[in-house]
Amino acid sequence: MKNIENMQLYLIRLGEISLKGMNRRLFEKQLKANIKIKIHGYHNLIEREKGRIYLYVDQSCPEELVYNTLKTTFGVVGFSKAVVCEKNFETIVEQAKSLIEREPFSDGTGTFKVEARRADKSFPLNSYQIEANLGGVVLDRYPEMKVDVHKPQKVLYVEIRDSAYLYTTPVSGPSGLPVGTAGKGLLLLSGGIDSPVAGYRMASRGLRLDCLYFHAYPYTSEQALQKVKDLAMILAKWNIGISLFVVNFTEAELWIKEHSNEEEHTLMMRACMMKVANRVAQKRNCQVLVTGEALGQVASQTLEAMCFTNSMSERPVLRPLVGMDKQEIIDLSRKIGTYETSILPFDDCCVIFSPKHPLVKPDTDVETESFKNMNIEELLDKCVEELQEFQFSYKV
Ligand code: ATP
Ligand code: MG
Repeated sequence: MKNIENMQLYLIRLGEISLKGMNRRLFEKQLKANIKIKIHGYHNLIEREKGRIYLYVDQSCPEELVYNTLKTTFGVVGFSKAVVCEKNFETIVEQAKSLIEREPFSDGTGTFKVEARRADKSFPLNSYQIEANLGGVVLDRYPEMKVDVHKPQKVLYVEIRDSAYLYTTPVSGPSGLPVGTAGKGLLLLSGGIDSPVAGYRMASRGLRLDCLYFHAYPYTSEQALQKVKDLAMILAKWNIGISLFVVNFTEAELWIKEHSNEEEHTLMMRACMMKVANRVAQKRNCQVLVTGEALGQVASQTLEAMCFTNSMSERPVLRPLVGMDKQEIIDLSRKIGTYETSILPFDDCCVIFSPKHPLVKPDTDVETESFKNMNIEELLDKCVEELQEFQFSYKV
């Protein structure tokens, strides 16, 4: 640790990134850039060391901004605020008092210990005395906490070397890989529970996302569009800004209704979505599509239906939720903050286009023929030409 005067210091732990061998530098560089974007406007400096990085930020930068940044930046496994101060016990106590006002101590519960290391043997208190004294400081502030020297939930670390160094057990970050290290994908974002979670999962593996929404106004309402915008805004903090493209899909849906058999409507709609999505992906340099499909969840998500939709896409379709059950997906959507928005009662795919008895085991060759027979390509071109774009910044 370096003493950079008048700057706040954070220790950031990296996990997987540090295992990436030759690519490690690249991953660290992207992580550094991703953190800097979110705290830009405040003077900052990042130093790297194997397995961790040190972030120095101007005193004027709100701590909340730094905490929220690090909690939403993939690649950060954990982080702790640290202080470097003079080797004077009163100063150390003052600094310890201020550190325990913050996470993870700030909820005042659970077990803890103080772990002191005295490399400078001339310091008047030995490790045990430092630990006992600072343990008392913690208990005075949080009488409900209990000392546990074997398996504490929280630790206050003190190192006495050239200066005194204090920091606490790391607050958890989201882990994963820095956004931007895995290329770009186009997320088919509906207003439902699944697709925002799918986007989150892929962003956590380093994929940078654009979003695409198929809107069928007036059959789907303005509120349904607003809901998708709100979801995109939530994803923007993980993705570090996001672009949402909105397709006016009404004419295409009406065309499908008129030119295909009722039990094929959903399949034809999904085929059209794939066609349009591939064209948008081409424009936006996205190598893959991402959807929120899970095997067997609804009629259009049987293996046969997925095989058919795949055959309509030139690009690979990533389905990160394919093997998850609904409850797992709901739990994750609660955790990332999209659930409350997703359950608002505005339907994304209008019920008038959903057949009563959809084909659940479609034959790809037969459906490909049906798709051709609809002659809908020109209308799909128009959808792409009239695309609307909305941008959301990375507000943390
Ligand atoms: P979700 O909860 O994500 O809406 P779902 O369980 O309702 O999914 P479907 O309606 O079959 O399932 O949609 C499957 C996937 O297709 C969605 O996860 C999403 O990726 C995409 N999708 C569906 N409708 C739309 C739409 N209107 N705009 C963009 N993508 C859509
Ligand atoms: Mg849906």
